[in-house]
This record gives sequence, C-alpha cells and structure tokens, in this order.
Amino acid sequence: MRALRLLEWKSSPEIVEVPEPVPGPGEVVIRVGGAGACHSDLHLMHDFTEGQLPWGPPFTLGHETAGWVHRLGEGVTGLEEGLPVAVHGAWGCGRCARCRLGADNYCEDPAAAPVAGGGGGLGMDGGMAPYLLVPDARHLGPLPDGLDPVRAAPLTDAGLTPYHAIRRSWPKLTPDSTALVIGVGGLGHLAVQILRATTATRIIAVDTRPEALEVARESGADLVLAAAGDPADAVKDATRGRGADVVLDFVGSDATLALAAAAVRSMGDLTIVGIAGGSLAVSFFSQPYEVSIQTTYWGTRTELAEVLELGARGLLTPRIRTFPLAEARAAYDLMSAGELAGRAVVVP
Ligand code: NAD
Ligand code: ZN
Ligand code: ZN
Repeated sequence: MRALRLLEWKSSPEIVEVPEPVPGPGEVVIRVGGAGACHSDLHLMHDFTEGQLPWGPPFTLGHETAGWVHRLGEGVTGLEEGLPVAVHGAWGCGRCARCRLGADNYCEDPAAAPVAGGGGGLGMDGGMAPYLLVPDARHLGPLPDGLDPVRAAPLTDAGLTPYHAIRRSWPKLTPDSTALVIGVGGLGHLAVQILRATTATRIIAVDTRPEALEVARESGADLVLAAAGDPADAVKDATRGRGADVVLDFVGSDATLALAAAAVRSMGDLTIVGIAGGSLAVSFFSQPYEVSIQTTYWGTRTELAEVLELGARGLLTPRIRTFPLAEARAAYDLMSAGELAGRAVVVP
C-alpha cells in the first residue's frame, strides 16, 4: 500500500510503498476513513533533529484517525470487522496509574509503551495510508450513530485536545465569564464550538488571518479580534477592565503568550496548547494574582468518547476540506501558507 511517510527530520514527507500491516495478538488493523493533518506534523517536518524526541523517522504521518475495523488479532474481543471506530492516538504502557484512567497521553512508564511518548503518526506508523495497525484494542472507540469516519477523524485531536483543555477549566467558565481563544485554525475553531456547546461563557477569538476570524464567528465567537491591533486592550475593554477568565493559546509563540498574559484575569487560567516554541517569564509580579498557567497535551480516552458524542449530536461540526492521499502534501503546504480554513482531512 502507499503511505505518506516522514523519512528523516527536517524534510518533507513522501508517498512510498509499504507492506500492508498484519495484526499480531491483541492488535487491530483498521481501514482508514480519514486522517487529519495537524500543525504538529509541520513542527515534525521542520523543528526537530535527531535525539530531541525519544523517537524519530521513518514513520507514516497521521495521528488523528478514524475508520473501520478491518482485521482483528488473536484474542481481541468486543470489536467486529466493519465497525466504525475512532483511534485514541496516544499509546501508553496500558498498566500505569495514568493509562488505567485512560490518560495514555500522560503515561508514566513510557519505556514500556509501544513507542516512548508517541503513538501512531508520532514515531510509529499513523493513519495517512489505507490501513493502520493499532497496538491494542483499548485505543479504539466505536463511533456513535450519526458520525462518519471523515468527520470523526479531526475530533480525535483537533477536537479532543481543546476539549480536555476547556473541560479542566469548566468551573471558571461561568455565565458571567469570558474565554479568549488565540489561534483559530484546526484546534481553535473546534475550541470555540466546544466552549459554545458546553458552557455559557462569552467567547473572544484572536487570529492574524481574516478568514480564520470568519471561521471563528461561524463557530460561535461573540467577538473576533485581529492579532495585529491591540487585542489585549480590546479584551480589557470588552470585559470592563477585568480580562479573560480562561485564555487558551493555540499558537504558543512569544507574541501570543505575551497577549495571553496581558489579557488574563486574576484567578484565571492561562493554558498553553500550541507548540510554536515561545516562552513566558513567570514571577510574582508578571501576571495578575492567582493565575494558573499550564500546558496540556491531548486528552483521555473517556474525553474522546464525550467529544464523539458532541460530534454525533451535531454540537461539534469540524470545518473540513478533504484531500486524497496523493495530494496530502498540498494540504500541509496550504496549512503552512495560512491558506486553510478549519481542518484538512486526508482520505486515503
Ligand atoms: P493551524 O495551523 O490549523 O492553526 C493555527 C492558527 O493560529 C492559524 O489560524 C493561524 O493563522 C493562527 N496564528 C498564527 N500566529 C498567530 C498569532 N501570532 N496570533 C494569533 N493567531 C495566530 O494549527 P493547529 O493544527 O490548530 O495546531 C495549533 C497548535 O497546537 C500547533 O502548534 C500544534 O502543534 C499544537 N498542537 C498541540 C497539541 C497538544 O496536545 N498540546 C495537540 C495538537 C496540536
Ligand atoms: Zn496533533
Ligand atoms: Zn502508562
């Protein structure tokens, strides 16, 4: 079969011929229905060198995948061929306290995982191929009625990651609160929809691109702001000087972190999701009192089931542009150039 593979660091992925996977005991092969193109893949192509991560190329890209069960390995029960499923993409050891809670994304024994700190499309072969080998049936969640694999694929990362970040801030997202979403691409537009569907907060969105701000409005933002102006002042103006109770940064550059710190309200949450490599100096005086600053990585298996439910009920509708495998590289080029609205999904 043909697969889009990252063959070495600091390179563009290539479509190459690889053998079709065969499931061993406990493993499952799925026929891929859709594999989302994440900005993290651009970071993988451009930002890393040998030794920076515990894993490396070559591997097939695509860590945001849904499809149908194709072949079951020996001993797998509870799944049947043809069942539509979404893949929980963080593949931990399966035995540590975090993995037992379904939080493979925070596995505490990565050395015992199929790949330390990675998953399919992150060190192991991912979904940008007709078939994907999943190392354990626990990583597969059945799709609820009304959700097809192409729409489900982006929910497994572009949906799940913001869902996890937002869910942990739910207590602060009261009806009189304000949430600020910085960066309204694949993750950010779904963050706006998740805030809309699961809270009564007021939503402000910031992006550099007018098209992204349009998507933010369509997704349910109350106020959209161009990054080029003075968005921190505009957030203060819109909140009677208080600032945003919850700030979600889906870029993570020096500029967006500075905006996040300038716009956050005392006792608020500042959550860094984007991995553009910026940093924020933290001291007693550098931000309002009792601001909690955190990073989040992906989400849990249970949260994925909740996100799929939102999708099936029409409360979370990713804006998708599909690409055949042969044109997958074009999807990344468009993302890189800032010419993509919402999420690109490769249909191999
Ligand atoms: P994307 O390219 O689809 O969206 C990024 C958006 O940010 C674009 O709309 C872009 O115009 C906007 N942007 C860029 N610079 C900006 C600025 N200075 N101010 C305001 N907006 C700006 O990317 P994506 O796939 O949504 O991923 C977003 C980030 O999250 C990436 O860094 C990605 O690697 C990271 N990510 C993190 C996790 C995690 O678990 N922490 C998971 C997935 C992706
Ligand atoms: Zn991702
Ligand atoms: Zn573990």
